[in-house]
Amino acid sequence: MRIKIDKGFSINVKVRGHCKYCGECCKDTVYLTIPDLLNLEKHGLLDKVTMVHGLPALKKENGKCVFYNGRCKIYNFRPVVCRLYPITITPNNLKIQCTKHEYACKYNTELVYSIRYSDLIKLFYWFVRQAELMKQYGLIKIGDEL
Ligand code: SF4
Repeated sequence: MRIKIDKGFSINVKVRGHCKYCGECCKDTVYLTIPDLLNLEKHGLLDKVTMVHGLPALKKENGKCVFYNGRCKIYNFRPVVCRLYPITITPNNLKIQCTKHEYACKYNTELVYSIRYSDLIKLFYWFVRQAELMKQYGLIKIGDEL
């Protein structure tokens, strides 16, 4: 499957398995990219954004994403990191993590995924660039630091 992240930016990820809507992934911090912020702004949802480790992220309620209510309330325009899960990214400390969340994800027994190393590196630099652009345009000032 080719995951389209932004205009002109996509990566190849092979995924087999089906989401069981357990919501475990929605407990993680959902860092936001510029396209995500623009989508949220378009839908009048910027008040659901906060700052975590100096980067914009979705707020949480009762330990889960503010948009989770058994299903994702913004599924059609869910953020990039949600679309990538169970590949997880930690861009805040300039480190990319690529893991399968075996301890939590309920479909891990049937899940198989792979991402090319070159795509992983591309993804990492894309996230770093997003953070730089957000700083440059003053977008990293939304909400309060957690
Ligand atoms: S935006 Fe949707 S998929 Fe992403 S963490 Fe929130 S509820 Fe889950």
